[in-house]
Amino acid sequence: MNTYDVIIVGAGVAGLMTAQKLSQIGLRIAVIEKKPTLASGPSTRNEGWLHRGTYHACSIASKDSAYQVARRCIYGHKQLRNFCPEAIEDLDKRPLALLRDGDRIDEVKDRWDDAGVSFRQISRKKARKLIPDANFDRAAGIFLSKDVSINTRLLYRKLVGTARAHGCEFFVAHDVVRVNGMELLIMDQDGVSSTISADRIIYASGAGTRSLYEKLHGKDIPMRYWKSHLVVTRRLAPMGVFYLDPHEAAMMHHGDVSVIGFNEDAVQCESPSYDVVPDRAENLRNGIRRIFPEWRDEAAIDIACVKVDLLESDDNARSLNVAIREPVPGHIVALPGKLTETPYLTDALVGLIHKTVSDPLISERPCDLYTSAA
Ligand SMILES: Cc1cc2nc3c(=O)[nH]c(=O)nc-3n(C[C@H](O)[C@H](O)[C@H](O)COP(=O)(O)OP(=O)(O)OC[C@H]3O[C@@H](n4cnc5c(N)ncnc54)[C@H](O)[C@@H]3O)c2cc1C
Repeated sequence: MNTYDVIIVGAGVAGLMTAQKLSQIGLRIAVIEKKPTLASGPSTRNEGWLHRGTYHACSIASKDSAYQVARRCIYGHKQLRNFCPEAIEDLDKRPLALLRDGDRIDEVKDRWDDAGVSFRQISRKKARKLIPDANFDRAAGIFLSKDVSINTRLLYRKLVGTARAHGCEFFVAHDVVRVNGMELLIMDQDGVSSTISADRIIYASGAGTRSLYEKLHGKDIPMRYWKSHLVVTRRLAPMGVFYLDPHEAAMMHHGDVSVIGFNEDAVQCESPSYDVVPDRAENLRNGIRRIFPEWRDEAAIDIACVKVDLLESDDNARSLNVAIREPVPGHIVALPGKLTETPYLTDALVGLIHKTVSDPLISERPCDLYTSAA
């Protein structure tokens, strides 16, 4: 039986980054992914928008939560740019953030200042020069932001390559069949099974976490699924353009292609499916036409994807927050909230794992030895 320090179940951005960081601190790591390719879910079916707090600092009603998310995004943004500068696209172009609600301009600027978000307000005339095809008549405020597009495939390649170079093993197209304490029975697509074990198991399996945890541990994780849509079309502008207001379009670009989402599009669904809801997709297309009135693209494709959250309390509000939970000792659930927040999540996970999988070669600090008299 192969034994590891940590087994990670799920190879989206959260699983891959955790694997990279834990293998880099010298731990023996295995990653189990049920699909034949890595990161085939939301980790690649997204806008590839490496946030820098611009959107979240002013779109979340509670100031405290807005600043917390914005700061985590700034943290993640910096870390990913340092780790994989090759994956950052259109570095020399600053995306435009548009604000329709003129009454909010001062409040939004204050929030950005408080959260440490960089911005520069520009005139409509200047915006029209930057993107002549766009209609800026509805934007009461226009700002240059420091958000960027990221090539997620390149990022994941580097995460996998670095993790492998540090000894991480990947079991792709493998199902987790059964758990026995800290042992997992896993099976490949030909029905060949093996048992592996670890000191800790991390479930970074996104929307698959609830059913997996239920199957293995008989415990319900109060997880919800929120469907939102994207349009993939020919590239529409030299730089990203996104509204800050709800029910408006937000677009980032990847080479010749634009990927466009719709603010506050999320609709709760019973199970995590990628079926497109036609009227939702049409709302998004109308949002694109409000910025680019001439936009016609017969070849454009609508896609749907699912975000997950944990229902934390009776408060039914959607919370796409970073979450680390350990409902069964040693079996840790990890959700990043956003791709951009994954560095924050994974740093917290490394701290947690390091405490439990100690290295006897390195001296303990006095504070590690301290135990409270109580
Ligand atoms: C439409 C949309 C647009 C978004 N746009 C952005 C954006 O532009 N910027 C941003 O920062 N964030 C964005 N997000 C959020 C971001 O994409 C997600 O938060 C992030 O990708 C989640 O990563 P994850 O690793 O937790 O989950 P996932 O990407 O879902 O990865 C989970 C992995 O676990 C595997 N798995 C599941 N069950 C099992 C099992 N039983 N056994 C083994 N493996 C299993 C899956 O196959 C998958 O590979 C967007 C999300 C959506 C839905």
